[in-house]
Amino acid sequence: MRAIVIGSGVIGSSVAYELAKAGAKVSVFEKGRIASGASAVSFAWTNANGKRPREYHALNVAGMRAYVDLAREFDSARWFNQTGSFEWWTTEAAQAKQLAGVKLEQEWGYGVDFISRDRITAMEPDIKVQAIGDAPIVYYPEEGWIDPVLYAACLLRSASERWGAQVYTGTQIKSLETRSGRVSGVRTAAGERFEADVVVSCTGGASQESLGDIPGIPMKSTIGVLAFTQPVAMTLRRQFHADDLDVRPDGAGRLMLHKISVDDQFSEPKSLQPDGFEATTILNAARELLPALEAVSIEAIRTTVRPIPGDGLTCAGPMPQVDGYYVGVTHSGVTIAPQLARLLADEIVRGNIREELSMFRPSRFFDGAPGSVIPKYAVAGPSHD
Ligand SMILES: Cc1cc2nc3c(=O)[nH]c(=O)nc-3n(C[C@H](O)[C@H](O)[C@H](O)COP(=O)(O)OP(=O)(O)OC[C@H]3O[C@@H](n4cnc5c(N)ncnc54)[C@H](O)[C@@H]3O)c2cc1C
Repeated sequence: MRAIVIGSGVIGSSVAYELAKAGAKVSVFEKGRIASGASAVSFAWTNANGKRPREYHALNVAGMRAYVDLAREFDSARWFNQTGSFEWWTTEAAQAKQLAGVKLEQEWGYGVDFISRDRITAMEPDIKVQAIGDAPIVYYPEEGWIDPVLYAACLLRSASERWGAQVYTGTQIKSLETRSGRVSGVRTAAGERFEADVVVSCTGGASQESLGDIPGIPMKSTIGVLAFTQPVAMTLRRQFHADDLDVRPDGAGRLMLHKISVDDQFSEPKSLQPDGFEATTILNAARELLPALEAVSIEAIRTTVRPIPGDGLTCAGPMPQVDGYYVGVTHSGVTIAPQLARLLADEIVRGNIREELSMFRPSRFFDGAPGSVIPKYAVAGPSHD
């Protein structure tokens, strides 16, 4: 089977790896650099907390556990950090929601528990515990994060070296080629044609764009903003989520910072300044909890499109319009990527239809599927999950 994967973010690189491992002859086409889209500007927290409904939570948990399996396939999975994470909320309404969520997730078998102030101080002495006040602190030991660009590079290199996958960067796919209602290949922006039996679109935020005559997926993508500190003399190992602020180590002593209320100010990606209003807002919030940050400033601040399908849920599987054409796009794509790739490869190469994907099919977005090319509904404007 000749398979083409469009896009080399966490989803595309995972799909390429699993297809190649399952025996397909894989070619990957990436319009920019490897993993240069959302995956390069992602907090990349592997987690299932707060993810609803149950089937979506289960898909995220399976993604977290797929990383543990996948790490064993590499001599050193330097991209994987399963250090656990902390979460606390300071308003009563958010604390009540957190308590209900913890109870439900414990029933579902997810790793989560409340921990004491003494315990968090022993585990992470950099955090100023007084600033947490009397907010209950939750610890999720199975959570962690990955380094998405390193991950994509390792998977694609492994797929090339072990199973002969080809990777074309700087090559945009413009259209799908079809014959008698079945995919027959792709055409690049430069006009070159490549033959395939199967094409999988993993184009992230570009998933709503049509490929020639074939329409994309309705999306309600949002904008994400990440700030990166200078290296700071701290020993923080785990990430924490304090109200709408997310903080984690980012290598060589730098911290990665994210604040949802800053994301909410944007409707498109923008070039921001490390000493600008957004960077200062995020840094000041983090300084409240990590006094050592008083000594450093923000070194870089980046924005990107956060790909989110129109109903907020994962979209994965065969497209209804053309046989042999598949799509894989989702929010929480970092968490879900390795599991999504295993399921799609099992369906595409081995022909096993995977129940876990039944509520996430692309056909839900299209009228009169299969065969129709009319989107069932258009989704207006950005919004947050
Ligand atoms: C600020 C922020 C924080 C986030 N935090 C988390 C988190 O904590 N946990 C989590 O699980 N998820 C998180 N996400 C979401 C996650 O990062 C994304 O779901 C994931 O990176 C999407 O990966 P992808 O491969 O689908 O898309 P991308 O990484 O965008 O990759 C798509 C690739 O396709 C290429 N491409 C597009 N069109 C074409 C074409 N026609 N031809 C060739 N190439 C093409 C692009 O250049 C790009 O490289 C976050 C996102 C943001 C922005």
